[in-house]
Amino acid sequence: MTDLKNLFNNNRQWAEQIKAEDPEFFKKLSKQQTPEYLWIGCADSRVPANEIVGLMPGELFVHRNVANLVIQTDLNCLSVMQFAVEYLKVKHVIVTGHYGCGGVNAALANQQFGLLDYWVRNIREVYLKHQDAMDEISDDKKRLDRLCELNVVEQAANVSHTNIIQNAWKRGQELTIHGWIYSIEDGILRDLIPPITGINQVDERYRVI
Ligand code: ZN
Repeated sequence: MTDLKNLFNNNRQWAEQIKAEDPEFFKKLSKQQTPEYLWIGCADSRVPANEIVGLMPGELFVHRNVANLVIQTDLNCLSVMQFAVEYLKVKHVIVTGHYGCGGVNAALANQQFGLLDYWVRNIREVYLKHQDAMDEISDDKKRLDRLCELNVVEQAANVSHTNIIQNAWKRGQELTIHGWIYSIEDGILRDLIPPITGINQVDERYRVI
Protein backbone atom coordinates (compact mmCIF):
# COMPACT_ATOMS: atom_id res chain seq x y z
CA MET A 1 0.00 0.00 0.00
CA THR A 2 1.74 3.17 -1.18
CA ASP A 3 -1.02 5.71 -0.60
CA LEU A 4 -1.33 4.89 3.12
CA LYS A 5 -5.10 4.64 2.81
CA ASN A 6 -5.21 2.82 6.14
CA LEU A 7 -3.97 5.95 7.90
CA PHE A 8 -6.59 8.12 6.19
CA ASN A 9 -9.24 5.59 7.22
CA ASN A 10 -8.00 5.69 10.80
CA ASN A 11 -8.10 9.47 10.67
CA ARG A 12 -11.74 9.57 9.50
CA GLN A 13 -12.75 7.16 12.26
CA TRP A 14 -10.89 9.15 14.88
CA ALA A 15 -12.47 12.45 13.81
CA GLU A 16 -15.94 10.85 13.77
CA GLN A 17 -15.41 9.40 17.23
CA ILE A 18 -14.46 12.76 18.68
CA LYS A 19 -17.35 14.52 16.93
CA ALA A 20 -19.76 11.90 18.28
CA GLU A 21 -18.78 12.94 21.80
CA ASP A 22 -18.62 16.68 21.11
CA PRO A 23 -19.98 17.84 17.73
CA GLU A 24 -18.39 21.29 18.18
CA PHE A 25 -14.94 20.00 19.21
CA PHE A 26 -12.98 20.82 16.06
CA LYS A 27 -14.85 24.06 15.45
CA LYS A 28 -13.96 25.30 18.94
CA LEU A 29 -10.37 24.08 18.63
CA SER A 30 -9.85 25.79 15.27
CA LYS A 31 -10.39 29.19 16.89
CA GLN A 32 -7.59 28.95 19.44
CA GLN A 33 -5.27 26.73 21.44
CA THR A 34 -4.75 27.28 25.16
CA PRO A 35 -2.48 24.48 26.34
CA GLU A 36 -1.20 24.69 29.90
CA TYR A 37 1.73 22.39 29.28
CA LEU A 38 4.81 22.30 27.09
CA TRP A 39 6.08 18.73 26.68
CA ILE A 40 9.69 18.20 25.67
CA GLY A 41 10.07 14.50 25.00
CA CYS A 42 11.90 11.87 23.01
CA ALA A 43 10.96 11.19 19.38
CA ASP A 44 10.65 7.46 20.20
CA SER A 45 7.40 6.10 18.71
CA ARG A 46 6.63 4.26 21.95
CA VAL A 47 6.34 7.48 23.95
CA PRO A 48 3.34 9.32 22.46
CA ALA A 49 2.94 12.53 24.48
CA ASN A 50 -0.82 13.16 24.49
CA GLU A 51 -1.83 9.54 24.96
CA ILE A 52 0.25 8.77 28.03
CA VAL A 53 -1.04 11.78 29.95
CA GLY A 54 -4.59 11.47 28.62
CA LEU A 55 -4.76 14.92 27.04
CA MET A 56 -6.80 15.95 24.02
CA PRO A 57 -5.64 18.01 21.01
CA GLY A 58 -5.27 21.60 22.18
CA GLU A 59 -4.14 20.68 25.70
CA LEU A 60 -0.45 19.87 25.22
CA PHE A 61 2.15 21.81 23.23
CA VAL A 62 4.78 19.33 22.11
CA HIS A 63 8.43 19.33 21.07
CA ARG A 64 10.16 16.02 20.51
CA ASN A 65 13.69 15.14 19.45
CA VAL A 66 16.12 12.25 19.89
CA ALA A 67 16.67 11.75 23.65
CA ASN A 68 14.64 14.83 24.74
CA LEU A 69 17.58 17.23 24.68
CA VAL A 70 17.45 20.96 25.45
CA ILE A 71 20.52 22.46 23.81
CA GLN A 72 21.26 26.17 24.08
CA THR A 73 22.01 26.48 20.35
CA ASP A 74 19.02 24.47 19.10
CA LEU A 75 16.82 27.14 17.50
CA ASN A 76 14.05 24.62 16.97
CA CYS A 77 13.63 23.71 20.63
CA LEU A 78 14.22 27.29 21.81
CA SER A 79 11.64 28.69 19.36
CA VAL A 80 9.07 26.18 20.57
CA MET A 81 9.86 27.12 24.15
CA GLN A 82 9.66 30.85 23.51
CA PHE A 83 6.36 30.55 21.67
CA ALA A 84 4.90 28.32 24.37
CA VAL A 85 6.01 30.55 27.24
CA GLU A 86 5.55 34.05 25.78
CA TYR A 87 2.50 33.61 23.54
CA LEU A 88 0.62 30.56 24.77
CA LYS A 89 1.56 31.30 28.40
CA VAL A 90 1.93 27.65 29.37
CA LYS A 91 2.21 27.11 33.11
CA HIS A 92 4.37 23.99 33.03
CA VAL A 93 7.38 22.82 31.02
CA ILE A 94 7.74 19.06 31.30
CA VAL A 95 10.93 17.31 30.17
CA THR A 96 10.11 13.63 29.79
CA GLY A 97 12.69 10.95 29.11
CA HIS A 98 12.16 7.21 29.01
CA TYR A 99 14.03 4.14 30.15
CA GLY A 100 15.87 2.19 27.45
CA CYS A 101 16.26 5.32 25.27
CA GLY A 102 18.09 4.53 22.02
CA GLY A 103 19.59 8.03 21.86
CA VAL A 104 21.03 7.70 25.35
CA ASN A 105 22.27 4.22 24.48
CA ALA A 106 24.08 5.65 21.42
CA ALA A 107 25.93 8.02 23.76
CA LEU A 108 27.12 5.04 25.80
CA ALA A 109 28.49 3.21 22.75
CA ASN A 110 32.00 3.66 21.42
CA GLN A 111 30.95 3.68 17.79
CA GLN A 112 29.79 6.07 15.05
CA PHE A 113 26.17 6.71 14.09
CA GLY A 114 26.71 9.63 11.71
CA LEU A 115 25.07 12.98 12.45
CA LEU A 116 23.62 11.51 15.61
CA ASP A 117 27.13 11.53 17.11
CA TYR A 118 27.03 15.33 17.34
CA TRP A 119 23.58 15.31 18.87
CA VAL A 120 24.22 12.70 21.55
CA ARG A 121 27.55 14.25 22.38
CA ASN A 122 25.53 16.29 24.89
CA ILE A 123 24.61 13.08 26.70
CA ARG A 124 28.26 12.02 26.86
CA GLU A 125 28.80 15.24 28.80
CA VAL A 126 26.00 14.30 31.19
CA TYR A 127 27.84 11.03 31.77
CA LEU A 128 31.13 12.82 32.42
CA LYS A 129 29.46 15.16 34.89
CA HIS A 130 28.30 12.14 36.89
CA GLN A 131 31.18 9.85 35.98
CA ASP A 132 31.99 8.48 39.44
CA ALA A 133 28.43 7.37 40.13
CA MET A 134 27.96 6.09 36.57
CA ASP A 135 31.19 4.07 36.54
CA GLU A 136 30.07 2.25 39.69
CA ILE A 137 27.09 0.68 37.91
CA SER A 138 28.29 -2.54 36.32
CA ASP A 139 24.98 -3.80 34.90
CA ASP A 140 24.52 -2.41 31.35
CA LYS A 141 20.75 -2.01 31.55
CA LYS A 142 20.92 -0.27 34.93
CA ARG A 143 23.67 2.02 33.64
CA LEU A 144 21.59 2.98 30.62
CA ASP A 145 18.49 3.59 32.73
CA ARG A 146 20.42 5.71 35.24
CA LEU A 147 21.86 7.80 32.41
CA CYS A 148 18.32 8.21 31.03
CA GLU A 149 17.31 9.63 34.43
CA LEU A 150 20.34 11.89 34.77
CA ASN A 151 19.78 13.14 31.24
CA VAL A 152 16.27 14.27 32.19
CA VAL A 153 17.61 16.03 35.30
CA GLU A 154 20.22 17.90 33.23
CA GLN A 155 17.79 18.81 30.43
CA ALA A 156 15.27 20.17 32.94
CA ALA A 157 18.11 22.28 34.38
CA ASN A 158 18.95 23.42 30.84
CA VAL A 159 15.37 24.65 30.47
CA SER A 160 15.82 26.73 33.62
CA HIS A 161 19.07 28.18 32.26
CA THR A 162 17.40 29.83 29.26
CA ASN A 163 16.64 33.54 29.26
CA ILE A 164 13.16 32.59 27.99
CA ILE A 165 12.26 30.98 31.32
CA GLN A 166 14.21 33.39 33.51
CA ASN A 167 12.61 36.44 31.85
CA ALA A 168 9.18 34.88 32.36
CA TRP A 169 9.89 34.49 36.08
CA LYS A 170 11.14 38.09 36.17
CA ARG A 171 7.84 39.24 34.64
CA GLY A 172 6.03 37.41 37.41
CA GLN A 173 4.74 34.69 35.11
CA GLU A 174 3.89 31.48 36.93
CA LEU A 175 6.01 28.75 35.36
CA THR A 176 7.11 25.39 36.73
CA ILE A 177 9.68 23.03 35.21
CA HIS A 178 9.32 19.28 35.72
CA GLY A 179 11.58 16.30 34.98
CA TRP A 180 9.77 13.01 34.41
CA ILE A 181 10.66 9.58 33.14
CA TYR A 182 8.42 7.08 31.39
CA SER A 183 8.71 3.32 31.48
CA ILE A 184 7.87 1.63 28.20
CA GLU A 185 7.64 -1.65 30.12
CA ASP A 186 4.69 -0.67 32.33
CA GLY A 187 3.37 2.57 30.79
CA ILE A 188 3.97 4.50 34.01
CA LEU A 189 5.41 8.01 34.41
CA ARG A 190 7.58 8.90 37.38
CA ASP A 191 8.65 12.26 38.75
CA LEU A 192 12.45 12.62 39.02
CA ILE A 193 13.02 16.07 40.50
CA PRO A 194 11.32 18.59 42.77
CA PRO A 195 9.49 21.12 40.57
CA ILE A 196 11.64 24.13 39.59
CA THR A 197 9.52 27.22 40.20
CA GLY A 198 11.92 30.16 40.35
CA ILE A 199 15.37 31.66 39.90
CA ASN A 200 16.48 30.71 43.43
CA GLN A 201 16.57 27.07 42.26
CA VAL A 202 18.93 27.91 39.40
CA ASP A 203 22.69 27.55 39.89
CA GLU A 204 24.12 31.05 40.25
CA ARG A 205 26.49 30.62 37.29
CA TYR A 206 23.48 30.20 35.02
CA ARG A 207 21.44 33.16 36.25
CA VAL A 208 21.01 35.86 33.59
CA ILE A 209 18.52 38.11 35.33
ZN1 ZN B 1 14.40 7.88 23.41
